[in-house]
Amino acid sequence: MICVLTGGTGGAKFVDGLRQVMPAEEITLVVNTGDDLLWWGLYVSPDIDSITYVLSGMLSRERGWGVKGDTFLCLQAMGQLGEPTWFHTGDRDLAVHLLRSRLLAEGKTLSEATSIVCGKLGVKACILPMSNSRVETRVDTPVGELSFEEYFVQRWYQDPVNAVRFAGASDAEAAPGVIDAIVSADAVLIAPSNPVTSIGPILAVPGIREALHGARGKIAAVSPIVGSAPVAGPAGILMAAQGLPCSIAGVAQAYEDFLDILVCDTRDARAADALRKSGLRVQCTQTIMRSSDDKAALARNVLSLVAANVVSDQPQARTASDQP
Ligand code: GDP
Repeated sequence: MICVLTGGTGGAKFVDGLRQVMPAEEITLVVNTGDDLLWWGLYVSPDIDSITYVLSGMLSRERGWGVKGDTFLCLQAMGQLGEPTWFHTGDRDLAVHLLRSRLLAEGKTLSEATSIVCGKLGVKACILPMSNSRVETRVDTPVGELSFEEYFVQRWYQDPVNAVRFAGASDAEAAPGVIDAIVSADAVLIAPSNPVTSIGPILAVPGIREALHGARGKIAAVSPIVGSAPVAGPAGILMAAQGLPCSIAGVAQAYEDFLDILVCDTRDARAADALRKSGLRVQCTQTIMRSSDDKAALARNVLSLVAANVVSDQPQARTASDQP
């Protein structure tokens, strides 16, 4: 069993690779819900949706979000009614938001609603929201504090960022199955997602970092930073706001209390050498995922790196005292 911590488009691409090279039934995904929002009164969970669409074969690969071939008639009609249209939801995508919102209104948890939607769409992997409690990523900027989607989608991540916080995290609980999936997995993979706003909210849920410290399997992260810049998006700006350098060293620092292996791009070979001196295992491979084959190759490489490191290692427990 493999457990993947994931969020956003980088994570969706990586999971698209994993599903090609291993049985979906053996994958549990712990997904960021810090970007969730109420849109037109509906509960939208962008990262859960992307992963659900990847695993059901519905994702639009061109956009990296939403349903392939979707139409946007409702969006157009809402615009005509004077409603906000900055967050794009296609018509088929809306059907999922409608169903989820109805299930939540009937008293189901987000975990239960996710499982029902996945069942209807034929998803065989287990998709778990990080928490059933509301944890909201808030981005502090000179124009005020914004939700992640306001910062990222509405305002095109143009605002300088002072700080990021995860409102509600300290009172949240990991969703059922999350801790057990992390602790008991043969390997835990951290997808090449934004370390601050996609993986950060997951790590902010009480108990999840501790579960990573006690994980039975190796923990490997794929760097979303290639050649000292994110492949896409605001990861560099957000990492800087958290005091992290925008480099593979910054990614390693974000995960330093539990990470066994950092997988980075061959372009970062020199930075990898420097990082190895700190004692971290760093493996370089091709990590840019343009085609389906790239995604499968990266997934295969990461799985074999983890397997090779299991064979070469003595069992070793991570403890909270390993923390810096
Ligand atoms: P956001 O766009 O910053 O909100 O971050 P997401 O968590 O949605 O995922 C985008 C992250 O994935 C960015 O930090 C990208 O650098 C990373 N990413 C996207 N495509 C690739 C890829 O092909 N390879 C690698 N290594 N990272 C990628």
